[in-house]
Amino acid sequence: MHKTTKHKKPKLGQHFLRNTEILERIVKVAEINPNDKVVEIGAGMGDLTEILLKNAKEVIAIEIDPMLFKILKERFYGKENLKLINQNALNFPYEEVGEFKVVANIPYYITKPIIFKLLEVKNLISMTLTIQKEVAERLIAKPSTKAYSALSIIAQYYTKPEIKFYIPSSFFSPPPKVDSAVIKMEKRDKAPVEVINEKLFFRVVKSAFGQRRKIISNSLKSIVDEPKEFLTKIGIEPTKRPEELSIKDFALISNELAKFAKNNAKIA
Ligand code: SAH
Repeated sequence: MHKTTKHKKPKLGQHFLRNTEILERIVKVAEINPNDKVVEIGAGMGDLTEILLKNAKEVIAIEIDPMLFKILKERFYGKENLKLINQNALNFPYEEVGEFKVVANIPYYITKPIIFKLLEVKNLISMTLTIQKEVAERLIAKPSTKAYSALSIIAQYYTKPEIKFYIPSSFFSPPPKVDSAVIKMEKRDKAPVEVINEKLFFRVVKSAFGQRRKIISNSLKSIVDEPKEFLTKIGIEPTKRPEELSIKDFALISNELAKFAKNNAKIA
């Protein structure tokens, strides 16, 4: 006989947050006002959705699980300012909804891909996300700390990330293995550094942190022919490790590389 696993979907990151006080606090820090369009990712049983509906003009709630989607349909029957979408949030066309804010208790297995995706969406105003504490700390991390990574740089290039408060795992049902944090990321009007070629900038950052223990001149080998000479010329110590370099340093490296792009087949 087969074991029945019908109600267990650990793969979908289903950890429900049903404490009204905390949900209201999340919506408060998200600064949702009556003119806002809000996208919620992973609506679950709709407890956060309900509070969002009271505060926003319109809510688009995305839920992948057909069983939960059915519960949401019944719970919010007749609500005109709610659009329920039964699909994978990673494939949703965010560019098509106009200006919006995201408020969500994210399924943790998609935290990084969904953040990377949303960061590039131009019509996004801000995102207020409940995520793993450890990832939240990486998002706000400064150079020369253990948490500083490619994610820190890319998030801080696009937004001003701020941890608003922590939520112990016992507040969720069932409780996840780790504690959570509510992070708000407001999109910047203007990047904090000037970058000539964003694609190249991200490539340099990712390749440097992909080889975290290597010194920067070694990790640039795949991108530039004589990395040591190149770095010395632009005033960056070639023996530095990626975590010792600021966003400004990475911008300088990628901008100087962009200038050489025409003469160097490795960049392009
Ligand atoms: N917002 C609810 C549920 C959070 S749990 C609450 O706070 O209680 C995360 C939810 O995301 C679950 O309902 C899960 O089914 C849903 N989910 C998981 N993967 C998803 C995906 N790729 N796209 C959309 N929803 C997803």
